[in-house]
Amino acid sequence: MEKIELQRNPTKPSNPERRSRIKIAFDLDGILIDKPPFIPKRLLEWAFKGGDGSKLHYRFPKTKLEQWIRKLSHFYLFRPPIRKNIEVVRRLAKDKRYELYIISARYSFLKKETEVLFKKWKINNFFKKVFLNLENKQPYIFKAEILETLEPEVFIEDDPLIIRYVLPKIEKTKIFFYYSDPQAAKKLSGVSSVSSLKEIDFSAR
Ligand SMILES: [Mg+2]
Repeated sequence: MEKIELQRNPTKPSNPERRSRIKIAFDLDGILIDKPPFIPKRLLEWAFKGGDGSKLHYRFPKTKLEQWIRKLSHFYLFRPPIRKNIEVVRRLAKDKRYELYIISARYSFLKKETEVLFKKWKINNFFKKVFLNLENKQPYIFKAEILETLEPEVFIEDDPLIIRYVLPKIEKTKIFFYYSDPQAAKKLSGVSSVSSLKEIDFSAR
């Protein structure tokens, strides 16, 4: 996996073929990789955001113990692939019209776990670049920065707080809210909601 490089001008005008490719950016957890199946959702929200998960703030695990628990919860066997979505990504990766990216707010201490996971689930060759939050910024700030620089045509995310934050900042990007709970989808206006990547027509500009 490559280190993050913020490119101010990712598409060079001298390369028209590259410029015409459709850039698709995926969030990782919840889209391609499932959350640990046996941990209650509320506990996860508390661990990641603090409180009930409704406020725009994400906990950074400061103590070694907390980081160890977070690492353990990201062990690849606890993060099964979401096969129906990975199939879609596999198909897109073979298609020259598209350029695929991962934008994951996973913190720096999860870099190793993430690399292992990409290898174990055989998804490391699909992406032109994997952006990880190696500077441990607040996830919404990190994602907004990457999106503003990368300017993908499509961005798929399952965290409504992040979508609300980035929405006014990336007007050229079509955002899809990926939901597993249909009730949550109703609450988020201004973006399309999907519960499978199969529902998205990626060729539509
Ligand atoms: Mg996610």
